Amino acid sequence: MLANLPKPVEEVFKEADPAASPASWAVRYVASLPNVMIVLSGMSSEAQMLDNLSYMKDFKPLTEAEREVISKAQAKLKSIDQIGCTACHYCSPGCPVGMHIPEIFYVMNFYKLYGDVERAKLDYSFRPGGPKASACVKCGQCEGACPQHLPIISLLEDVAKTLE
Ligand code: SF4
Ligand code: SF4
Repeated sequence: MLANLPKPVEEVFKEADPAASPASWAVRYVASLPNVMIVLSGMSSEAQMLDNLSYMKDFKPLTEAEREVISKAQAKLKSIDQIGCTACHYCSPGCPVGMHIPEIFYVMNFYKLYGDVERAKLDYSFRPGGPKASACVKCGQCEGACPQHLPIISLLEDVAKTLE
């Protein structure tokens, strides 16, 4: 996720430095923290290795202005409407149809972040497991159990409309 940002967040970084990759911000952020000696970065191509080397072989910690860019990006990320599910699973054990509620919301949040409906539909087809959102019988058990007071029934209706 740090390397493949939601578009509005990526735009904040691109505006600040069009040449810098999203990954470079993440790696430099970590490397700028006090007492960090080594940063491990997963790389799956030569291009990613060259990108990492381009800013780490002559490493410069983040400047104050760059930290502000990161704060702006954080605010942008928070402003994207998402389902505030913490995946605590209090809702699911009592569901009469065995709905995997937090797993369904995870996929829906992916859609809300990236806007890629085809990818989200594909994820939805296998990742949550259990019945589809449209199988909800609206008994209300889950809403009574949710510490976040989420309107789970109507959220599931949205999921069914969007991803089924
Ligand atoms: S309202 Fe729907 S999702 Fe919630 S417990 Fe009842 S059947 Fe399950
Ligand atoms: S109880 Fe609420 S917050 Fe917890 S997993 Fe279920 S929907 Fe998410």
